Amino acid sequence: MANKIIIDDSTVAFFNLISELSGETITLCDQCGTCSGGCPFVNDMDLMPSQLMRKTLLGQEDVLESKTMWLCATCNTCTVRCPRGLDVSKVAEALRQVKLRQSLDKIKLNEISDEELKELPPIAIIAANRKLVS
Ligand code: SF4
Ligand code: SF4
Repeated sequence: MANKIIIDDSTVAFFNLISELSGETITLCDQCGTCSGGCPFVNDMDLMPSQLMRKTLLGQEDVLESKTMWLCATCNTCTVRCPRGLDVSKVAEALRQVKLRQSLDKIKLNEISDEELKELPPIAIIAANRKLVS
């Protein structure tokens, strides 16, 4: 039985986030598969580029568990070939950003108290910003 496609606030929010970060009009993708056909790394990917686009279009957050976005080398082969002028590598980059933010924001800078700000050396805050916030 085919998986149900669920569209709700969560999937729409995820789709909007990736659209905004990537700057791509993902809804233009018509799933022609041309990107997947020309991608030099497709054999190593668990989702083909066209599948990455489809899951993102549907707001399916489990796309973040795919290794495809890490394997995309931004070679732009798919961008040159895409009949809709889409840049899959920008979508992959947006997905990487979101994944990194999920796992690397170890501190919230806006939650540092005034007392802590007075006591902490500025270099510590700068270093934490570099290392602990994506
Ligand atoms: S080539 Fe473009 S339109 Fe076709 S599946 Fe890939 S991203 Fe979508
Ligand atoms: S930009 Fe990424 S997805 Fe597109 S062909 Fe190159 S490696 Fe594949």
